[in-house]
Parts: sequence; C-alpha cells; structure tokens
Amino acid sequence: MIKPPLVLMFSVDVSGKMRRSLVNCLAHSFCVKTRQVDLAVFAGHDVIRGTQLLEELCFMLGPSAMESDGPKYLLITRRHLVDSCENRLYGLSELGGNVGVVSVAGLDFREACAECWHEVGHLWGLDHCPDPICAMAFSSGKAGLSQKAGRLCRACMNELKFFMEPEGAVGVSRCLLGDNCRFDGKNCKDQDVLKYIEGKSVVGICPEEMGGLSTPRERSEIVSEHPVRVETTTGKDVTEAFNQGALAALDTLISAGIRRCILKEGSPSCGSRLIHSGKFDGRRIPGRGLTTRLLDERGIAVVSEEAVRRRGYLGIEQTKNKRPEDRG
Ligand code: SF4
Ligand SMILES: [Zn+2]
Ligand SMILES: [Zn+2]
Repeated sequence: MIKPPLVLMFSVDVSGKMRRSLVNCLAHSFCVKTRQVDLAVFAGHDVIRGTQLLEELCFMLGPSAMESDGPKYLLITRRHLVDSCENRLYGLSELGGNVGVVSVAGLDFREACAECWHEVGHLWGLDHCPDPICAMAFSSGKAGLSQKAGRLCRACMNELKFFMEPEGAVGVSRCLLGDNCRFDGKNCKDQDVLKYIEGKSVVGICPEEMGGLSTPRERSEIVSEHPVRVETTTGKDVTEAFNQGALAALDTLISAGIRRCILKEGSPSCGSRLIHSGKFDGRRIPGRGLTTRLLDERGIAVVSEEAVRRRGYLGIEQTKNKRPEDRG
C-alpha cells in the first residue's frame, strides 16, 4: 500500500456511483480517504477556471496543502473546468505537489478513472508517458482520454512504487556506477544516479556479465519477441546468456532483500521503458529488457537513470518544477 494517504474530496454534484467507482479504481494502490466538499464560493458557476479551483482548494486545506510528505488531495467535481484561454480542462495539478482537481463532467467511469490516475500520478511526481493507453499519457481533449485504460502502464506503476518507497537498499546497473562492464568496455557513469544513492545501501549488477558474457563483447539487441530472441550484430544467438544473466541478477537482488532498482535505459537486459529497435540502426523503441521483465514479475520495481533525472527528485523535494497547468 502506497503512503501517504490520498484524500478524494468530492463536491456534492458527483454521483454516489461515480464516487464508488473512483474509490475502487484507486484503493488498490493508495490508502484512500474520502471527504465531501461544498463549493459554495462557486455557487451559480457551471464553468470554473481550473487555477481558481486549485487556489480555493489550497485555501480550504490551509497549511496541510503545503506539507512535504503530507496527504495528497484530489478534488473531484462535475463543474466544467477551463484554462486561461477558456479551453476545456479535465484535470489540473502540480507535479510533485499535494493538490489537484479533476472535472468528471461528460466523462464515463473509465475516462474519469484515467483522469484521476493521471493527476494523482503527477502529484506523486510522474511525468507524461509515451504509451497512449497509459493513464499518464498526455491528452488535450476527450478523444485522447477515451483511448486510455483507466490505470497506469507497468513502467509508470513501477516508477510510482520506486519513488513511494524511498527507504531501503537499491540495485543499480554497474555501468551506471562507473564500472567498465558495457559491451564496448566503457561505462555510463551517471551523476544523477550517484547523487540519488548517496547514503543508501547499493548492490551493483550487470546481468550480461552475470550470464557469462565477456567484456568487451558484441553489441546485442532483442530481434524478436515471439519467441524472445537476442542476437549480436553478427547474428549470434545470445538469448540463453541473457536469460541466465536475468536469473542471476534476480538471485543476487532477492538474497540482498532488494525491492527496487535503477537500471540502464535502452539496454536489452536493463531497459525499463525503451530498448533498441532490433535492427541495429540506433533507434530506441518502447520495450523492456529481459532482466527488467523478470524483476517486474517478481515484484522488484525497476526505473531508469532517465526517470531519476526526469523526475528531478531534488526539484520535487524543494517544490521547484511545478506544473502550472495540465490539461490531462
Ligand atoms: S547489462 Fe545492464 S549493467 Fe551490464 S552493461 Fe548492460 S546496461 Fe550496464
Ligand atoms: Zn505509463
Ligand atoms: Zn498531465
């Protein structure tokens, strides 16, 4: 269960059925509390400027709207929200902040659930996701909202889990730590990752070396998914070594009691959102490395060095990087 609590504040115009549906879709992942609010200050206004509603919510909550590590508050209304140019808004929140608002006017249950997930994701520091059916995908209108599933994709859920549990040891790709274990005998030392793990207990893994491959070695990519096959640039099948490396990495992490990892994005072993195309043309496509897939199946949350950077974990803690307006 993710902490701190998520407080869903329903305005009186939201039906009981909609309330139950939204609570159900979020209660699996959050400690959900509910409240009813009376938006008397907006009496007679069917259309409200989103920023005004957000300000009113901060006013109602007082200092708890600003507490770091305090509850997250999402106000849900059936009024129409608009931005400063009178464009329709479905939701508005601050990246890494405590308060957000959602308008469910004209939305069905799945769309409303996706929109609530979207703003709640922003409150916990998630940015937009390239997967169009993920609730964290950017959409500027109803059409985009309609094609979303009412939940997060695996990569976003892992990112959420990773950053919600800031304590405990972390598994890290050894190349990110500065070890020369990359296929070309070099490393990808990452200052943001080093900063993030400062003071934390760390276990370095390199699944490809753990699977018996030497360094340097030929570049490899996942060339087929059904069945999964990893090949080198010269066409050698190295799938077995990759699978063995994934199992060895899992064993090491489980023995060390590790539940979350930062692994190198784009790698056929370690990628968590992206892998190379399988055509050795330098392109990255959506996908996950073989080690990341196995760790995810075993409940270990994997994020990339790019997620650590993108989230700007320091920025969020210092309440910088706020997102002033978000249309969902
Ligand atoms: S397998 Fe992972 S840790 Fe090893 S070099 Fe590749 S990306 Fe880095
Ligand atoms: Zn996503
Ligand atoms: Zn957004």
